[in-house]
Amino acid sequence: MGAPEPQCLLRPGDWCRMCQPGAHGPEDCQLVALVLSDPDLKARLDEIWREHAPAG
Ligand code: SF4
Repeated sequence: MGAPEPQCLLRPGDWCRMCQPGAHGPEDCQLVALVLSDPDLKARLDEIWREHAPAG
């Protein structure tokens, strides 16, 4: 049994494809860190996750 695959924090519903250089998952993804460090981008990301969540 392998470890569960990490999900991309920037693309709801998508697995982390380790598309960023040096990333082994969202936890050391530089793009995730950049987005989360910017209040405006973080707010937009929260919106995207809310839109993605199934209604009800
Ligand atoms: S490396 Fe970062 S941006 Fe790329 S899929 Fe993984 S979490 Fe998402």
